[in-house]
Amino acid sequence: MLADFYQSVTVVERDVLPTDPVPRRGVPQGRLIHALLAGGAQIFDELFPGLLGELVANGAIRWDGDYAKLWISFGGHRLLRSGRAPDPDSFPFYFQSRPFLEWHVLRRMRDVSNVTVLEHHDVQALTSTADRNRISGVEVVNRDSQHRMTVTSDLVVDATGRGSRTPVFLEQLGYDRPAENEVIVNLAYACQPVRVPPGSLQENFIAIFPEPGRPKMFAAVGYENDIAMFAVGAMAGLHPPGTAPEMQTFAADCAPAGALAAFAVAEPLGEVAHHRVPSNRWRRYDKLRRLPAGLIVLGDAICSFNPIYGQGMTVAAIEAIVLRDCLRRGDRDLPRRFFRSSAKKIRIAWQSATGSDLALPEVKGTVPLSMRLSNAYLDQVMTAAETDSTVMLRFLRVIGMIDSPARLLLPAFIFRVACVNQARRHRDPQLQPVRVAGVADGPTPVPERLSE
Ligand SMILES: Cc1cc2nc3c(=O)[nH]c(=O)nc-3n(C[C@H](O)[C@H](O)[C@H](O)COP(=O)(O)OP(=O)(O)OC[C@H]3O[C@@H](n4cnc5c(N)ncnc54)[C@H](O)[C@@H]3O)c2cc1C
Repeated sequence: MLADFYQSVTVVERDVLPTDPVPRRGVPQGRLIHALLAGGAQIFDELFPGLLGELVANGAIRWDGDYAKLWISFGGHRLLRSGRAPDPDSFPFYFQSRPFLEWHVLRRMRDVSNVTVLEHHDVQALTSTADRNRISGVEVVNRDSQHRMTVTSDLVVDATGRGSRTPVFLEQLGYDRPAENEVIVNLAYACQPVRVPPGSLQENFIAIFPEPGRPKMFAAVGYENDIAMFAVGAMAGLHPPGTAPEMQTFAADCAPAGALAAFAVAEPLGEVAHHRVPSNRWRRYDKLRRLPAGLIVLGDAICSFNPIYGQGMTVAAIEAIVLRDCLRRGDRDLPRRFFRSSAKKIRIAWQSATGSDLALPEVKGTVPLSMRLSNAYLDQVMTAAETDSTVMLRFLRVIGMIDSPARLLLPAFIFRVACVNQARRHRDPQLQPVRVAGVADGPTPVPERLSE
């Protein structure tokens, strides 16, 4: 995207980038389960036209619209598993491992004539003009020779991930650090890549999300060329399993039996990989009073989420589009315009992730009334999505970040959710009507979490 606006773009990368689709050190999470949401896939294909087709040509799996190939349980609601999406092309859900995806993107990026990759170099500081009002480049060090040099630029984009040091660099230049919003989840992930006998894993995608009283998750995704990834996540201090048999025992009370059976007979392709993510963390660059010109921060460097919801790559892609739209209007006051616009997009993903996390009593944090209301309404939506394909598809498109959550609040949709659940209550009197702790019965106000 930057290559369309600048004469030359230098990507400074601390790793030597692999020539094959294999995990690498600078992205340790690449060994763990990754799913690219449909909204992210759409943007990847917009930025690199034909990328999704290439992925499939090389072995990635594309969801064909059959609901039976998805097994999603959210907050204890198992979404509908029969029927087909009417127009699967409008919901590009592709399954491939993270290194496979990254390798395809890198290959395409290397084809862009005005992009240079400076591999095996570490960014160690920002440089600025004498008055410190503008960032003028970065200081980089060769990881072998320790040779230090400055790369000057009109714009520095920090995409160094969750470990970004921009707050420290800003402080060194006399600016404030950004404030941080944080919701602690203490997630511990364990994942194992395996080769599954063709057909042994019936679903393309399984995600059993945590529910109150059971702060753990199970996921399995069928990737390219008969590779699959099985994952379990333990939240809120739950002790995570260490080995593959322990993973199976850990998931026995929540994972589909067929998936566990496929896991049991699969051929391991590597050790069980572990990763801890302490929190959802959002650095509020949008709230800084003073910002230097010539500096953008995006991806995990601004906001990293509880990864079980699979939002990170998609939000990073959305931010790239926000930056493109800002650059189309010139580079005047670019950082402020970018941080403000991207914050609006980040807020949607933030409220979705933290709203789901805080719906678990095991996750500590203040739950605002607006979030309690939206969680209660979402519970109704998910109840209806258990049996109704229209509600199911709309919900899928919202959590897949194709559609805005506001689409869940259209009057006709609310009416449909109410009718579906009313009909179910007739059939099954056990099904409870919505109750929000601390709120008297009455008309439901618009929940803030959904109002974007
Ligand atoms: C366990 C786990 C599972 C996840 N699952 C999903 C998922 O299913 N779906 C999803 O969309 N997202 C998922 N995510 C989130 C996703 O991995 C990130 O959101 C995404 O990779 C962020 O991209 P980024 O470019 O900001 O940072 P990264 O992908 O982390 O990339 C940072 C890059 O910067 C380089 N770098 C860092 N510091 C320096 C430096 N000083 N100098 C030079 N180079 C440097 C690194 O080598 C790396 O190449 C998951 C994350 C974790 C931890």
